[in-house]
Amino acid sequence: MELDSLYQEVILDHYKRPLNKSLAANPDAQVHHVNTSCGDEVTLNLHLEGDRVSKVTWEGVGCSISQASTSVMTDLLIDKSAADALALVEEFQAMLQSKGKDSGNEDHLQDGVAFAGVSKFPARVKCALLGWMAFKDALQQALKNK
Ligand code: ZN
Repeated sequence: MELDSLYQEVILDHYKRPLNKSLAANPDAQVHHVNTSCGDEVTLNLHLEGDRVSKVTWEGVGCSISQASTSVMTDLLIDKSAADALALVEEFQAMLQSKGKDSGNEDHLQDGVAFAGVSKFPARVKCALLGWMAFKDALQQALKNK
């Protein structure tokens, strides 16, 4: 898989030094998502304060794409409103499903654009989306429980 070298560095950096990787207690929702095609796993704890995403913490194992993408996601979505966070997840998902046509809006997705090139490799798209889909699931559950 050939990705832009700057983007490879962003991914490697997050893989080596993942952000928010340690589950915080008493979450509003906890989910466990698995990407069976690659063997990636993520457990994600979500804390809301009112309508604001106050904490997103996680544990996981798997390939560098899945783990780095989850790290990037937490950094981007913490402190966003539930609606803004959901819009960003959908924007990231659209980029990953664009088959290389959508290079991503860096103002919105920040380090998330590093994964734009992954959209050209269908087998890896699920790796990049794993943590983001886990977040979306957790957010829906947390909102329902309020
Ligand atoms: Zn993977």
